[in-house]
Amino acid sequence: MIRTQEFQAKFKSLFEHEKNRLLFSGRASNEQFAVQSDDLMDEVDFTSFEIENQMRMRLATREALYLKKIEEALARIQAGTFGQCDECEEDIELRRLEARPTTTLCVACKEAAERNEKLHIDGHSHKSLGRTIKFA
Ligand SMILES: [Zn+2]
Repeated sequence: MIRTQEFQAKFKSLFEHEKNRLLFSGRASNEQFAVQSDDLMDEVDFTSFEIENQMRMRLATREALYLKKIEEALARIQAGTFGQCDECEEDIELRRLEARPTTTLCVACKEAAERNEKLHIDGHSHKSLGRTIKFA
């Protein structure tokens, strides 16, 4: 049994730290964003800005997803189910939790899920890369 009070407290502080870091970095990049948009001069700059913007948006989406996972993990700690596999309800390996604290699946269950996830991500990035950027 790995879900001791100490274990829960350790991950709780880790998640709260990550959450603050994400919320802070989100604000910081929005401020940079506002300054840069005033400096737009010609189409070349605008194109590189637009590409950078898209990358930033993608990053922001990833951060938002990560933040959501952290919120869910905190909720699981609150509920006392943190560290338990969603699928088979066994304890998730401690080494796995330390490497990837927001995980909700044990290694065996995750391997199956990861194959689907990978297919999904590949399909998504393929579509984004193939898209041509055009301006009206
Ligand atoms: Zn499992």
